[in-house]
Amino acid sequence: MSETLSNMPQHDPIIDSMGRLVKLIFGPDRATRARTGVILLCALMYAICCSAAFYSAEVGMMRDFAPKLLLATTIPCYTIFYVLVRTGRTRTMRDPNLMIPQQSFSLLAIAFAYTAIGPHDRGLVMVLIALVMVFGMYTHHPRQAAFAGVLAMVLLAMCMGVLSHIDPVYYPPTLELLRFELMIGTLPPLILAAYQISAWRNRLAQQRSELRDTLEKVQALASRDALTGLYNRRHMQDRLVDSAKRHERYGERFTVVLVDLDHFKRINDVHGHRVGDEALMAFASAATLALRESDTVGRWGGEEFLFILPNTSPTKALVALDRLRAALQHCSISSRVPGLRVAFSAGVAQHDLAAPVHRTLERADHALYQAKTAGRNRSLVSPSDPR
Ligand code: GH3
Ligand code: MG
Ligand code: MG
Repeated sequence: MSETLSNMPQHDPIIDSMGRLVKLIFGPDRATRARTGVILLCALMYAICCSAAFYSAEVGMMRDFAPKLLLATTIPCYTIFYVLVRTGRTRTMRDPNLMIPQQSFSLLAIAFAYTAIGPHDRGLVMVLIALVMVFGMYTHHPRQAAFAGVLAMVLLAMCMGVLSHIDPVYYPPTLELLRFELMIGTLPPLILAAYQISAWRNRLAQQRSELRDTLEKVQALASRDALTGLYNRRHMQDRLVDSAKRHERYGERFTVVLVDLDHFKRINDVHGHRVGDEALMAFASAATLALRESDTVGRWGGEEFLFILPNTSPTKALVALDRLRAALQHCSISSRVPGLRVAFSAGVAQHDLAAPVHRTLERADHALYQAKTAGRNRSLVSPSDPR
């Protein structure tokens, strides 16, 4: 008793309320929390930029209205981004992090900042463009990443050209031309790098998903019998072990049935191996149809089959086997031999918690043997293990 109590998880009220607060701010699930985290990190960077802008305005490096306008646009924009991401509304979108709207906003803000910063410090804006592009490399498709870079260049080139024409004192044409040349020399390699990195990232993601698909196919092939499509012996062994564990943990009882087709050799001898194969396939689909979806049907080997029936008593298993027997009376086994029928014998054993699962199989096998010696075409239940 004391051991059970000491194993119980201890709840710290401070940690619990911290956890609740994190969930409240960032969202209920991991994916939402990661996305909200990115939005809040960007919002923090804007807060730093805004305070730097206010300071610049105070010391005369920037026009007075600029920081106020930056703050007045950033707050509503990022509030909307946060609400959309935090409430999970962007989850099904192609751009769940809202990187494209965020990057577009950043580029407009940078272009605007360029117009407001004094003639000698304007060049600093280029660093911010590089930062915005680096963010895009890890989330955008290659074309989007390159487009963002080109858009930044066009916006800045327009600012330089138009403003130096309208107000040559605040935007000296020689300085603007120098900055334009600097931009032309530095941004295109960055755009190319953004395109390549995002293309590599895309290719890697595609390869990963192809690998996952292939692995799923290989796993399906490795667990199936090639002729009947049923689970193979190896898979059924794993399922038996799983069922025994579930029984132990959750008390979920199960019954196993070993089935052997009667006089199957005769079908092969009289009608040929191909008709024998058809009979095995017909039996497999009849068994799958007759049993419940929660039951597992497998080919144990040759003309032997194994059924695992969860939450089923031996009596109920007998009812299912009678249903299968009746179905086999009406199903067409082979188009080559229209009237051909297959019969089977079955051994039924309910798993006993006190014994290992191979013992349950042995009991089913023994009951099957008795069904054969008692005249075939019948199902017999194995008595429970003596304690
Ligand atoms: P019993 O009623 O005692 O079970 O008699 P039986 O003829 O069914 O049993 P036996 O073990 O003598 O023969 C089993 C036959 O099943 C022999 C084997 O060739 C055949 N068999 C096993 N696997 C396949 C298969 O994949 N295809 C075909 N066509 N036959 C198979
Ligand atoms: Mg056999
Ligand atoms: Mg047989």
